[in-house]
Amino acid sequence: MPEATLWRTSPNLALNQLVAERRAAGDDVVHLAFGESRLPAFGPLTERLARGADRNAYGPVAGGEPVRRAAAGYFSRRNMPTGPDQIVVGPGSKPLLMALQHVLPGDVLIPRPAWNSYVPQARLAGKTAFEVPIPSECGGIPDPAALRDVVRQARAAGGDPRIVVLTLPDNPTGTLAPPALVREICAAAEELDLVIISDEIYRDIVHDPATPFLSPAEVAPERTIVTNGLSKTLALGGWRIGVCRFPDNAWGLSVRDGVTSVASEVWSTLAGPMQEVAAYAFAEPEEIRQRLSASARLHGAVARAVYEIMVDAGATCRPPTGGFYVYPDFEPLRTHLAWRGVTDSAGLQRHLLDTYGVLVLGGHHLGDDAGALRFKAATSMLYGETAEEQERSLAAADPLALPHVE
Ligand code: PMP
Repeated sequence: MPEATLWRTSPNLALNQLVAERRAAGDDVVHLAFGESRLPAFGPLTERLARGADRNAYGPVAGGEPVRRAAAGYFSRRNMPTGPDQIVVGPGSKPLLMALQHVLPGDVLIPRPAWNSYVPQARLAGKTAFEVPIPSECGGIPDPAALRDVVRQARAAGGDPRIVVLTLPDNPTGTLAPPALVREICAAAEELDLVIISDEIYRDIVHDPATPFLSPAEVAPERTIVTNGLSKTLALGGWRIGVCRFPDNAWGLSVRDGVTSVASEVWSTLAGPMQEVAAYAFAEPEEIRQRLSASARLHGAVARAVYEIMVDAGATCRPPTGGFYVYPDFEPLRTHLAWRGVTDSAGLQRHLLDTYGVLVLGGHHLGDDAGALRFKAATSMLYGETAEEQERSLAAADPLALPHVE
């Protein structure tokens, strides 16, 4: 039986509750702690949702043929040749990642800082999570030398790390790893015989289309499992649509069967109307492609604006290149903050909320407690409050009221 200490609400979902309570009490809170874009659902997708309403019967566990075929096309167009048999769709990538933790044997190597659910998911699946540092210039990819060291030490101490999780583009740093580094980490995974889980939920939010994106599944296809979904790129977090792509070999297909078995006992199927939406979105007709690139450019412009504000404030910060987060480190302001009694990320998170009414996610939730904070750079304050304003920002791929943003 898992320890009771594991049974806690994921911190960013708990923070949503805190904001709701503060707002109900009359406080004006700017909520930048939760990882979702506030863009409206795209009209053609809403139409698909309505059209799918009569799909009220349970569907196939891994997803119906049309949605799996469309998702296979999505990956194939991104240099990962894929057949429908390599695909499982589910209610978000989070449950698919959790299913992988249940199915794959061995312990897990988690980059640090990292999305806050990887470690609790590994622990809930009874695994040990070994943290591996990500140097600040590495965008979602641990340092290969550090990976080798952690694996060596863990194995020497009787641990059994067999899986490494990568996030491309990265949450929380908002950056994309250079292809050369992706190749190096794949070589290290090969040498150490590790399975790679490549979490590519921000894959279509690369701010400058000229930035190269290399998936580990292109370099090490036989050992890489990719997860993705529509929550971030098409702002559909509440609709819960995720996808998992398995290697096209006997091992990959056996992991697919394992995930399908978990799915059959936990969520049964992706909801019928969502299969309709996902089949359309993954097929990427022209209007979806345009929406994806406008949204990537807009999130890039907003992230750049937030980045500039952070640098002006005196924090150190890497310029964002992908996703919609900015991850400044307030270490340079340490003395100044210590005067106010703030000595770590948790204190800084509290200080910003109590003093300015701004809630962000402290680095302590992400494996980094020295003084970093994650700001979501996908805020309606910057790209408009109403659906109309947001559509206008999207059309111009330009945040509202920020004349200094190029
Ligand atoms: N991976 C990362 C890195 C994320 O940031 C998130 C959402 N915060 C997810 C996975 C899960 O997304 P979903 O379940 O909505 O697909």
